[in-house]
Amino acid sequence: MKRPVLAANWKMNNGPTAAKAFMDAFVSSYPARDDRTIIIFPSALSLSVVAAAIKNRPGLLAGVQNIHWAEKGAFTGEISAPMARDAGASVVLVGHSERRHVFGETDAQCAKKCAAAAKAQLAFMLCVGETIQQREAGETESLVIRQLREGLSQTPNLISTEFLLAYEPVWAIGTGLTASAADASAIHTVLRAELRDMIGTRADAIPILYGGSVNAGNAADLLAADEIDGLLVGGASVEASSWLTIAQAG
Ligand code: PEP
Repeated sequence: MKRPVLAANWKMNNGPTAAKAFMDAFVSSYPARDDRTIIIFPSALSLSVVAAAIKNRPGLLAGVQNIHWAEKGAFTGEISAPMARDAGASVVLVGHSERRHVFGETDAQCAKKCAAAAKAQLAFMLCVGETIQQREAGETESLVIRQLREGLSQTPNLISTEFLLAYEPVWAIGTGLTASAADASAIHTVLRAELRDMIGTRADAIPILYGGSVNAGNAADLLAADEIDGLLVGGASVEASSWLTIAQAG
């Protein structure tokens, strides 16, 4: 029996007031259930609102969308892993495609962020995925393997580190185009095999989520695939009603 992870990436939506309204609606309607984990990734400004709303609700976690790799210092506008932990985050997204493609984040920077998260005992969710050009050039597998290997390269003791992976094809994010369950499963299988090569059987306990235009209509079908351990959802997670359906899918 898999225990799926359903993750909501609000991106730059839902400031504190909207986050409070969302969480009031979601938490009051979402039944206590121990067969899945829900993670909400709000903006850092709304983290305290989300963290307060999930207190005493096992199975509901709060995360942050990004961290800097330094613990503290002169990095105006940034937040660190220890600060995120202190404010109630349990997980951080690393290498989301918008960080890579809009903000120019590199594999080397992702590696430093994963290591910083692990050091602060903040679980990380490393995101990998190809552009449409890379897909058409037949580079998907080699690219996600590179992103995986380089992203994890600076984290010591990976075997005892809490982390997750998300396969998010760039061409599917926010476009309405979704990878088929079969296509996503094929890449998840590649990632799992690579992870086994790196950390042995511990790889089998690492959730691999799919993300890319998941919505209330397709979530259950994607989740039904054996290789898909959960879903990372952007646009369709911003409204409580749609997220409530996705969070209970499958
Ligand atoms: C995301 O932001 O991680 C994402 C998958 O976005 P969307 O669901 O909007 O494609």
